[in-house]
Amino acid sequence: MLFQKLNIIDPILKALKDEGYVNPTPIQEQSIPVILEGNDFEGCAQTGTGKTAAFAIPILQLIYSKQRAQIGSSNIKALVLAPTRELAIQIGENFTSYGKYTKVKNTVIFGGVSQKPQTDAIMAGVDILIATPGRLLDLVQQKYVNLQHIKFLVLDEADRMLDMGMGHDVKRIIAKLPKDRQTMVFSATMPQKILKLIDSILIKPVKVEVTPVSSTIDTIKQAVYFVQKRNKKSLLIHLLKDESFESVLVFSRTKHGANKITRDLVEAGIEAQAIHGNKSQNARQLALSNFKEKKIRVLVATDIAARGIDVEKVSHVINFDLPDVPETYVHRIGRTGRAGSDGVALSFCDREEKQLLTDIEKVISKSIPVIKDHPYVMGKSDVVVSTSGIVKNKDVKKKVSDGKSGKSNYFRRNKKRS
Ligand code: AMP
Repeated sequence: MLFQKLNIIDPILKALKDEGYVNPTPIQEQSIPVILEGNDFEGCAQTGTGKTAAFAIPILQLIYSKQRAQIGSSNIKALVLAPTRELAIQIGENFTSYGKYTKVKNTVIFGGVSQKPQTDAIMAGVDILIATPGRLLDLVQQKYVNLQHIKFLVLDEADRMLDMGMGHDVKRIIAKLPKDRQTMVFSATMPQKILKLIDSILIKPVKVEVTPVSSTIDTIKQAVYFVQKRNKKSLLIHLLKDESFESVLVFSRTKHGANKITRDLVEAGIEAQAIHGNKSQNARQLALSNFKEKKIRVLVATDIAARGIDVEKVSHVINFDLPDVPETYVHRIGRTGRAGSDGVALSFCDREEKQLLTDIEKVISKSIPVIKDHPYVMGKSDVVVSTSGIVKNKDVKKKVSDGKSGKSNYFRRNKKRS
């Protein structure tokens, strides 16, 4: 199917062509026609499925076709709420790209930085506002933002907004919006609290599910290394000797951990930067753009900071720590293997994390292959039990200096778990 078949107007088609998009992704194919028809929409889709364009294209088109005379006026017509600054910025960049021939204006607002440039942009006239909930409420209270003309509301990564404790703010914002509007909710998972929220704000929504959380994206090769906590750093440095690890996103459970991993990598001569909530907005943006522009090979991130990061062709995701919440594993590995390209997701699992691995395998309904051929296999005393049985690493005598093992063909070498 081609974009032309979705009745998309020429100025947007032209922009999509500039982006190199030819075919809509499954979520786009299903969402664009029904949103154009004016329906509320519930999309169960994670980042990497093309969900941003799935709502951005029809919103741009509806504003362009139905409110042309109002474009650029001070009436904000569409509001997109997102959990993190990084995601908000990316959504804004996508609206700018897809809408570049429509003159529809967007601006992005988020906390942690001076509000002046943001309020200046709003006062200059904006059609689409992309916001994190806290800063938006702040600016509404200060009367910089008037929500009375909103015709379209999108909650993006709704599950994450609630997980991050933004539920209350989101509800306060929704209460201030006109009732006569079109609402779209996108969420990677649909736990009970999201279904409840959806129930209270969507009217007869069209529901589309493209990537159920239980099935991780098929193009991603997954594997796990059983390794002692103290050897994780050495294993990471060992793996990064392989140049096919071109663009690597390393996940750390904590901000402190992310800093430490980054320091260790830099000391080992590997270009790396960290991105997490304690970093200033500018430092986070700089790290992200350095990574996108391939100035650094490794970006070390915490889950919240990395949420929704859209970097094309991340070759590898490495879970330095396993996440506490199994669904987070799905979010993390979704950063690689994007838009149909192959990706690799590797996880380090120490003794204390074995239950987390079991939980993850339950959620994704498959066991993750184990790589046993690496220089930091655990000793005999370090028996690890996973869902598919006991893995005993006999190969304890392997020397740390064995630089070749596990570096290439690591998937071919990977034998069935014992
Ligand atoms: P998203 O899920 O919105 O974060 O999108 C993931 C990536 O897919 C982004 O880099 C988009 O630019 C890209 N993308 C979105 N739609 C398409 C499409 N129809 N064809 C090719 N790439 C796309």
